[in-house]
Amino acid sequence: MAEILDIIELGDPILREKARSIAHIQDDRVQTLIDNLLATVQKANGVGIAAPQVAESYQLMIVASRPNLRYPNAPTMEPMPIINPRILAHSDETIKGWEGCLSIPGIRGNVPRYQVIEIEFLDRFGKPQKMEMTDFVARIFQHEFDHFNGIMFLDRVESNHDLVTEKEYHRMIVSTIK
Ligand code: ZN
Repeated sequence: MAEILDIIELGDPILREKARSIAHIQDDRVQTLIDNLLATVQKANGVGIAAPQVAESYQLMIVASRPNLRYPNAPTMEPMPIINPRILAHSDETIKGWEGCLSIPGIRGNVPRYQVIEIEFLDRFGKPQKMEMTDFVARIFQHEFDHFNGIMFLDRVESNHDLVTEKEYHRMIVSTIK
């Protein structure tokens, strides 16, 4: 039975570390961590989580896009474990979009990200995969990838004026949708 893990928050020095790559994906410890992250991101209603957020400083993330209020057209996908990823190429173009982070409760930021990225990574079976990601899914990936380098979305906003509270964010989103 998968375990719900504690999520560490901004200020914990582990979130500022560089995450190590994973050598032995088939190890029980790694497979259990993947299962626990899948359960944890689902329980937290997140669209993504990176292992450093549960104090495991390894290059493992879950990308789990699904429609939400801000991105009604976000693709619904089977939550995808991504291990030791690299960005092979990206669009010149960046677009700003709203993000939150399970490690920064109560704050949202309007963050510029590449619109299209091409990545390679290992899946949970240790098999190499290549993939193109666009828009919201590419945004999730770039956010989680930053966690591997100790970067939080707060570091990516162009101005502090692009930061809002959760409450104001929801008020703004509701008025935009109407
Ligand atoms: Zn985050």
